Amino acid sequence: MVRHHRARLPLAAALVATMLGLAAAPAQAEPLQAPQPVQKTKKTVTNKKEVKKPKKPKKVDCAKVKCIALTFDDGPGKYADKLLDTLKKHESKATFFLEGQYVKSRKEFAKRIVAEGHQIGNHSYTHPNMLEIGEDEIRQELQRTEDIIYKVTGKRSTLLRPPYGLFDERYREIAVEMGLPIVLWNGGSRDWDTKKEGPIYKEVMRSAKRDGVILMHDWVKATVDVMPRLLKDLKKQGYHMVTVSELLRDGRKLQPGEVYPEQDEKEWEELNILVAPPGSEQASH
Ligand SMILES: [Zn+2]
Repeated sequence: MVRHHRARLPLAAALVATMLGLAAAPAQAEPLQAPQPVQKTKKTVTNKKEVKKPKKPKKVDCAKVKCIALTFDDGPGKYADKLLDTLKKHESKATFFLEGQYVKSRKEFAKRIVAEGHQIGNHSYTHPNMLEIGEDEIRQELQRTEDIIYKVTGKRSTLLRPPYGLFDERYREIAVEMGLPIVLWNGGSRDWDTKKEGPIYKEVMRSAKRDGVILMHDWVKATVDVMPRLLKDLKKQGYHMVTVSELLRDGRKLQPGEVYPEQDEKEWEELNILVAPPGSEQASH
């Protein structure tokens, strides 16, 4: 059975920045002048309490509007909290393919991802190349991750994504057993490689398309830093940022073991080159 994530929380209000201006008084050097009474500095309180009622979450129908699914792998990453603030501010949803070891070490981020209505997927526990390990190890990697996700968030993942997008029939059969579809991507950011805001921005905007699934990482600081600009400009182009499952039309549900989005083999080969080779970056986040 495919479980569907239905938690949608009210979208939060915008952040209010407090600006405290400090006026420096010029030094007085006139000895004859009577000392001035000390002026009390009035602090201006600008952080008005947000009294807006939480907005009702809108149901986005991707048959009618242009949608895109931003996905973040290997997390919860170091910068997940900042990313979540940005997503909230821009009323955007995303999908997080979590790594068990980081769910364990960054429990609060994992809880927040779920509480704020994003979709979660299982990206293994220690990020091995699934082609290079035994079937029992594959099963263990996935099961341990399921267990920790459930223990920490109270939810189960609804999708699988193999590290580097690499998997074989054994993995697919385990996906069927677990009742989970396999979600790859059809747009990249090359963020793990460039780690620079400009190139990440360009690559995402270049590969963005209707119903696209974009691969990014919330352990890359530049990705998280460029996200406000990206979301603003994607919105300008008419995109609604939704979870992977929300891309589907007419109540269609992904089936256990189904690979989504459908991959054009040649296109996938090119895209696959965009993924970090095993072991290059994964240990450092
Ligand atoms: Zn990964």
